[in-house]
Order: sequence, then C-alpha cells, then structure tokens
Amino acid sequence: MTTFEELKQVMQTAGIVGAGGAGFPSFAKLAEGADTLVINGAECEPMLYTDYSLMSAYLPLVVEGATIVMRAVGMKRCLIGIKKHNCIKLGLSEGQELAPDITVKQLPNVYPMGDEIALIYETTGRLVQPGQLPITQGVIVFNLETIFNIRNAVVCGTVLTEKNLTINGDIDNPVVVKAPIGMRVSDLFSHLGIRVPEGDAVLDGGPSMGRIVNPNTHIVTKTTKSLIIIPENTPAVMVKQRKPEAHLAIASSVCCQCTRCTDLCPRFNLGYPLEPHKHVRVAASALGEDQPELIKTASLCSSCGVCEILACCQYISPRAVIAKHKAILAKDHIRFSAPEGKTYTIAEDRPLTRVHSVKWMESLGIRKYDKTPTYVPELQPTNHVEIRMNPHIGAPSVPCVSVGDHVTKGQRIADPGTGLSIPQHATIDGKVIFVDPTKIIIEN
Ligand code: SF4
Ligand code: SF4
Repeated sequence: MTTFEELKQVMQTAGIVGAGGAGFPSFAKLAEGADTLVINGAECEPMLYTDYSLMSAYLPLVVEGATIVMRAVGMKRCLIGIKKHNCIKLGLSEGQELAPDITVKQLPNVYPMGDEIALIYETTGRLVQPGQLPITQGVIVFNLETIFNIRNAVVCGTVLTEKNLTINGDIDNPVVVKAPIGMRVSDLFSHLGIRVPEGDAVLDGGPSMGRIVNPNTHIVTKTTKSLIIIPENTPAVMVKQRKPEAHLAIASSVCCQCTRCTDLCPRFNLGYPLEPHKHVRVAASALGEDQPELIKTASLCSSCGVCEILACCQYISPRAVIAKHKAILAKDHIRFSAPEGKTYTIAEDRPLTRVHSVKWMESLGIRKYDKTPTYVPELQPTNHVEIRMNPHIGAPSVPCVSVGDHVTKGQRIADPGTGLSIPQHATIDGKVIFVDPTKIIIEN
C-alpha cells in the first residue's frame, strides 16, 4: 500500500496539477484527517466530454486511483459525482458500489455542478462554510482526470506529459483526444483536419468560463480540458470580448438594483453572503478601491457567469465587477472570513433557482454546437512543444536544461521553485532549442 507521504511525493514528482481547474498542485491538497474523497466527474461546462470519455474507456483505472488515494489518506469512502444522463449512458446507477466504499453519486443536470462547494454539498450533504476549505468538512476533491493521472503515476511510474481534451463546437468532426502538453493548438487542429470557420473564436475551457485564445500561439497545458470553437456573435463569446472598462462603465450607469443577479447566484443560494447586486452598487460609487471591507465577499464568487449571462437583462456583468473587486482584495491580501460563531445554511429557494444545463446552453447561444465527439485514444504527434514554467498555481518551475541538450519524453527539464511548486518534464523526445525563466522549447 502507498503511504500518505509516498503518495504526496509521487504526485509532486510526477508534476500533477488539477486537470480541470486553475492548476493547483494536487499533492498539496492531500490532508490527513479527511474522511471522504469526492471525485468530480460532473463535467460542469457544456460541450465537454473529456471526463465522460475517460470513464467510458478507463473506469476501472479511475476506481483503482480512487482506492490508492483513499487508502493512503485513510479516508472511509469515495463518492464519484457524475451527471444523471452520463450515468445512464455509462450504465451506472445512483448508489452503485464500484469497489468497496467507492460509490456513484448521480448529479442533476444543472449548471454549475462542478463548482467544488456545490459538488461537495450535492454528494455529501455537507456545506463548506464561506471562506473555508473543503478539508474543514473532512472532504478532499479531485477532478476525475487527476485521479486517473495519480493512478498512472503510482502504478506505472509515469510523469505528466499528456492531456486529454475535448475539441467541440462549430466543426464537423468533434473529438476527445490526447495531446502532448506544450503542443501548439494550431498544430493539433491541423493534424486532426479541424478548420476554425471565419468569424469564430477558439476558447480554452468551456463556453461559460473559458477564455478566448489565439490557436497560432496558444499551447495545450496541464489544465486544458477543452478547446471550444464557436461563433463570435454568440453571447458566450461576445461577453468575453467586452473590455473590463466597458463592463464597469455599463455597470455604473444602468443597474436598476433589481437583485435578480443575487436571486440566481448559485453561491448565494448555497447560503453564501455573496450579493452581486451590491458589488455593482459599490462599483457605481467607486467605493471599493478605498474600502475593501465593502467588497470582501468577492472572494466567495466562483466566476460561474450566471449573473452575467442569464440573470441580468441590462447586459451588466456582475462577474466582471466582482473580478475587479477580487483583484483589489488580492492586492491587499484580504480574504473573506465569517464573523465569529456565524454559521451559514442553504437558501430555502435553492431548488427553484437552479439552472438546467439546456437552458444554460441556450442562454450562451451554443446549444446547436453541442455534439457528441468521437474518442481518439491515440496520442497526437508533434515535433515541437513549448513547456511553460508557470501553468500552475504557486511558484514557477525552474529550468534545469540548456539549449542544445537532448532530452527524452518524461525527463525532468525543470525543478520545482521555492514553496508550492512542481517540476516540469519533456513531453516529446528532442533537442532543447530555447530556455528562459518562463518556458522551454523542444523540437525533433
Ligand atoms: S440583475 Fe442587472 S440590473 Fe439587476 S441588480 Fe443585478 S446587475 Fe443590476
Ligand atoms: S459569477 Fe455571478 S452568479 Fe456566479 S458565483 Fe459569481 S456572483 Fe454568483
């Protein structure tokens, strides 16, 4: 059996970060005292099929990974959260035990279901209090692909060199593929025969929370869950194209304080004291800069976009306003902390405010672009990769190779930086042709 310390070491050495989010180094999430492992197989964003494809092909390996983590940490149980329609397609039922103490939890098809706080509540019934971490409720959450990567690192000794991702949208041949980390997106598209139509944008991430990228310069990273191709005239893209100053100008001038953004906010309905309409009010008076106490609930926002895409009929983006407030808080190192002795509980109206995923896709203007992709398990070839030193939360990695060095796939090419950090590895065999503190380029 792998011990707690051994698992932590293997995960850090393999360079594993959360496969579905901001890239938090996964070894740092391990904490003794947790009793429940929650695996996020919700595939929260529309048009994504990466975790679904991994479950279709490798569910026993995911279960093996879950067993390794549970036993090493000493957790009593593992709950795998999967949306009901995917459970049906996979032949899984609510409460089905896949291995001792590893159980399927069916999730409703609503957005956002992959939000860690919502997922923990839906699977365990426990509410992580505002400003606290899941471990305070005895829970550790890993994305399903992260568990798959942990299993491969422990059982096969592999380091993280490849990323599974969905390519979907305004194309004829949507796929889920495996690509070397650092592969240029344009090279991946060209190898797969994917052409981005004139007037379309490419998003890294889902249509709700992803960002617009240039395929000629963007690369596949350890957190690239999807590349979504959708027209620029869809609400999903239009709202991302608007500049932050424009968002703030609109918010300051036309908000009628109807509170609909707060009424529909999924975090507010989990009982969190986050009221986006109040952030918009603060933005209109420009008080936030001087009085960060007024805006400290911004750190409770998950950036889901419900307030912006669905709630507000004035085209205001409370999400953008809150992003600005988050930046102010980050500058001053302020985080939300609940008043002493205060406990928050789920809003009574929560079941009435949940957004069905189909309604969400319609609001984003992307429903007709959601197609079921073909799963292509073979690794996509490339002769050029660019490995970034800071694709994760924490300190950047530090290159340990030089221009002209010949490296082999899986070889360490960067050491962890000081503090929370991970190493980086060559993702193809080849020659190092460029090194600086931000990236290493390898060609063959
Ligand atoms: S929904 Fe729009 S108009 Fe209403 S309070 Fe929120 S930002 Fe203001
Ligand atoms: S983006 Fe808007 S709706 Fe979503 S959590 Fe933040 S404030 Fe609430």
